[in-house]
Formats: sequence, structure tokens, C-alpha cells
Amino acid sequence: PGAFNVEAVRRDFPQLHREVNGRPLVWLDNGATTLKPRQVVEAVAEHYSMGTSNVHRGAHSLAKQATQVYEEGRQAAADLLGTPDQGEIVFVRGTTEAVNLVAQSWGRANLGVGDEVLVSAAEHHSNLVPWQLIAAERRARIRPIPLLPDGRLDQDAYRDLLGSRTKLVALTHASNVLGTVPPVAEMTALAHRYGAKVLVDGAQAVSHFPVDVTALDADFYAFSGHKIFAPTGIGVLFGKRELLEAMPPWQGGGNMIDSVSFEETTYAPVPHRLEAGTGHIAGVAGLRAALHYLAGLDREAATAYEEQLTTYAMGALATVPGLQLIGNAPGKIGVLTFLLAGTDPIALARALDQQGIAVRAGHHCAQPALASFGLQSAVRASLALYNTVQDVDALVAALHDLQAR
Ligand code: PMP
Repeated sequence: PGAFNVEAVRRDFPQLHREVNGRPLVWLDNGATTLKPRQVVEAVAEHYSMGTSNVHRGAHSLAKQATQVYEEGRQAAADLLGTPDQGEIVFVRGTTEAVNLVAQSWGRANLGVGDEVLVSAAEHHSNLVPWQLIAAERRARIRPIPLLPDGRLDQDAYRDLLGSRTKLVALTHASNVLGTVPPVAEMTALAHRYGAKVLVDGAQAVSHFPVDVTALDADFYAFSGHKIFAPTGIGVLFGKRELLEAMPPWQGGGNMIDSVSFEETTYAPVPHRLEAGTGHIAGVAGLRAALHYLAGLDREAATAYEEQLTTYAMGALATVPGLQLIGNAPGKIGVLTFLLAGTDPIALARALDQQGIAVRAGHHCAQPALASFGLQSAVRASLALYNTVQDVDALVAALHDLQAR
């Protein structure tokens, strides 16, 4: 639909055209990681084959060129998230490292005895465990925001939990198990009334719909490159400038200093102050290519396409006897987690793999979210903008088949 041409996009992703177990690959594991367009693969290869150099130091031409690519990657991330200020974009390894950075730096400086961190029950472990670690150290408290039966966050419970002790709210922008997209802007506005900060985990959001951290008024926003068509090992932490500037460095080393002596060391301005050591330069080159690729698509049309495909998939899955879909909040992204009566999730994923269909089975690093539904394990098919009705049909036909055996 619209200006989105899925066939043209599919041609850019070589891995979509391979076979697995003798069958054409049907990649429905996008929640775990997305495939890469050739533009990203070429950008990484170009860096290593012709552009290898460190950044920010040395006056030679290749250092300048690498630095330019690096800073264009930062600009592309700022554009993706809707901030005009590149200083608010910190490169990290991924969402996990972004949250750990905030917990270890901001958290250690701002959490005290009896303070509270509200963490939604839909969070990935990476937006829970870092808070547990720092809360234990600071003797602060973690309080869960519970889920409703359809996978939405319980907003009444949230309002009751907020209070003068609330210092931070850790909130996913899209759940990797339920697909739920919470009302982040409203929840953030509420948190701000109590003076609490909000960290939004955008790992599952950024590839599916346009994000604007300014409109959300998010204090921190994290995502991983590998879930938005870029390489592994590179990710982004957005933080409001005044917060980043007030945060103590979390790792020390090269790149993050202004001047160093045994008597006194002073630090570089943000974002470099929070980026100790040589960064993942090739990863940034790949991230830059991925974000430029995405910027070249009609994002509104891509989102509309994914929404239609998700609705189609939910309808098609509902025709499979004994299939139970977990999470059907309105406006959810294409994360389809389900159980098939009488079938172990891992065995089911293996049977699908025999037919070239890649899905994930297990706890999806979100044990509290599954526990909210009385579950320990489930199967997850997760869509990206290059998936098609044919992919969904292949999954559904295979499930019908398995159920009939
Ligand atoms: N948050 C969410 C919602 C995720 O889906 C994931 C990855 N499954 C992460 C955080 C962690 O991302 P990474 O492992 O890339 O740091």
C-alpha cells in the first residue's frame, strides 16, 4: 500500500534470497535481529578495505575521512530520533550498554536509600537487571508497573505507583514479547510531574515507526543498531544535554578527556565524555548506511504497510486450531507471540526451521512479561518491513500442517 514498494526493498536484502534446510528462507526473527541491506554490508566492507583509520586524531586524510563518516553517523542517529543536538547522541554497544551506562552513571549519582525506580512488567531484562544492580548498591527500590490481560500497561496502577520517591521510570517503547506500544508521551508527562526521569527502551520501536524524542520528552532513549538493519556491536543512547552534562563519566580512558595529569584530569564535552576508548568505527559506518537507507524510504508508508501486515498475521494465526496469541493490545507492532496447544515451543520452532521458517522460542529475555501470563516460554514470530503476506502464509500453513499431524 501507499508509496511503499516491498519488492524493491526485498531486493536490497541478500539474505532474504537464500535457502535454509533446502527451503527458501522465511525470516520471522526480526525481534532478535534484522537482516542487513547490501548498502550496510558495503559500507562496512568499504571502511575495512579502503577507509581504515582511527577517528578524531592525527591530521592525515584517512583520519579526517573516518571522522567525517563517524560524525555523519551521529547526525543520522540524531535525525532518526528527532533531536537537533548531536551532543545528545552517545555511541554505545547497544541498548543493553546504554541502560547500564545510565544506571551506573546517572543512577549512582541520583538514587538514594528508599528512592524508587518504576519498571514496566513488559521490559526486556536489559531494562530491568541494570536497575536491580544499582538499586541494590544504593538501597533503592524497584517497583513493577503491572500488565493488563491484553498486554497493555496498567495505567491506573502506574498513577498509583508514582510519588515523591519515584526517581526514574524504565519504559519500553515497544515490547519484544507482546508488541505493546505504551503511551510513552503521556506516561513521561506524568512522571515529570513528580520530578522523575524516564528512560525509554526503543530497541523494538525504531525500525517499525518514526520516533521523536523531543515530542516524547524522553530523558533517555536507547536503541541497538542490529535491530534497525545495521551491524551488531553499535547502538545509541540519547540523553537530554543537561542530564548528560551533569552525569559523571562511567568509563575512563582515551577520547573522553580534556587534559590529564596525576594532579587533575578534566573531561571532554558531551558526548565524547561518555565514550571512552576507540569506538566501533566500522559499526558506525554501517549504522550510518542503515539510517540513510531508512531515510530514503517513505517511513509513514512503511509503517502503514507493517500495520496492515500485522493485522493480516493476527487474523491468519487465529485460524490455526489450538493457537493462543499472547498480547493483543491495540496498535501493537508485528511481534506475534503464541502457544500451540500440546506442542512445546522449542520443538515447534525446530519443526518450523525444517521448513526454512526462522522464529524464536523461549523466554525472550523478558521472563516477568511471560510470567504475567503464567508462562515460561512461547514461540515468537516478529515482522519487519521486508516481510510479506507470503511469509505469513508460509508460517500459518506450516502451523496448520503441524497441528494436523
Ligand atoms: N530491549 C528490547 C525491547 C529488546 O528487544 C532487546 C533485544 N532483544 C534489548 C533491549 C537488548 O538489546 P541488545 O541485546 O542489542 O543490547
